[in-house]
Amino acid sequence: MTGEKRTQVVIVGGGQAGLAAGYHLRRLGVDFVILDAQAEPGGAWQHTWDSLHLFSPAAYSSLPGRLMPPQTGEEYPDAEHVVSYLRDYEKRYELPIQRPVQVKDVDREGERLRVETDSGTWHARAVISATGTWWRPFLPAIPGREKFGGKQVHTVAYQRPQDFQGRRVIVVGGGNSGAQIAADLALDGIDLTWVTQRPPRFLADTIDGRALFDAATARRRALDAGRDDAGGVASLGDIVAVAPVREARDRDLLRATPMFRRLTTGGVEWADGTSAETDAIIWCTGFRPALSHLAPLGLRGPRGHIPTIGTRAATEPRLHLLGYGDWTGPASATLIGVGRTAREAAREIAMLLR
Ligand code: FAD
Repeated sequence: MTGEKRTQVVIVGGGQAGLAAGYHLRRLGVDFVILDAQAEPGGAWQHTWDSLHLFSPAAYSSLPGRLMPPQTGEEYPDAEHVVSYLRDYEKRYELPIQRPVQVKDVDREGERLRVETDSGTWHARAVISATGTWWRPFLPAIPGREKFGGKQVHTVAYQRPQDFQGRRVIVVGGGNSGAQIAADLALDGIDLTWVTQRPPRFLADTIDGRALFDAATARRRALDAGRDDAGGVASLGDIVAVAPVREARDRDLLRATPMFRRLTTGGVEWADGTSAETDAIIWCTGFRPALSHLAPLGLRGPRGHIPTIGTRAATEPRLHLLGYGDWTGPASATLIGVGRTAREAAREIAMLLR
């Protein structure tokens, strides 16, 4: 696509959130296009580490309209299975997706929004931003990071334990990525130190993504009804005890150490002033929403988020944000949760266009 084009709605991002939005807009008869920076379907799932499995069974990881089929021999499907499911999903619903198209800027243009891409300009009456977080890895400001002479990677660049064979590795981060990558390395016999800011909090072994979704839903309902916030999922713990994490924990391979205070050229210095040598650090320190294309709209609020009412930007009714986390709808950053918020966004947009 080059030149100038018009449509009612541009969806930026063709991962699961963008597809769910497309599904609902199609049902409402709205004209739209999905612009996705990736060359292939699957969003971030194309790039995760080899051993990653979902934290919910297939049927509980489904987008609207089509159940994810089970993966033979796996109760919790792997990332490749998710990619095939998304590929099949967009084909089945004939979603109008253009790839690879990078959206550079979204700005106001009278009654429309102008969407500048690396291959032309779209003029739309509404925009749904569904660009995910994988593309903005977050690294904490730790003194000495630039001095460290070993290998440093973020979660996004970790693939498999074999890449760290024979090395002493520190994994930083007490969330799901940190625990899973630490388990992946530990079960492969890598010399591992797992560092977390506070003691890791494992969810009960019986809790998987299904229970998390239910807890997120209950929390939303309580807040909507003006009842007290019981803490939802966060009160239960941080780490889903998926099979490899459980195994590593039960074999006592997942002992966490408190955070170091600085990096040195050859390793780390602990809070008590002692030090340790290491060859590699894997930063499992999270992500931020990929929102730079929305900068011209000047909507950013605290913590880099855009204030929202539901999925709608509070001060720009033509913009909706989907899939970034609970601030864009309960469990909206999950396969099973994004459908509900996508439906709400699509309905609001259809009303706006009327
Ligand atoms: P993405 O999958 O990131 O898709 C966004 C798309 O937008 C990408 O294709 C990207 O290239 C494109 N894009 C970005 N910027 C632009 C731009 N400017 N122009 C055009 N295109 C752009 N959820 C579950 O339900 N179950 C799980 O078990 C689970 N495990 C997870 C494990 C990990 C390690 C992580 C990080 C997340 C996990 N999630 C899980 C959460 C969530 O489901 C995934 O992060 C999912 O990929 C989010 O989908 P998305 O569509 O919002 O974003």
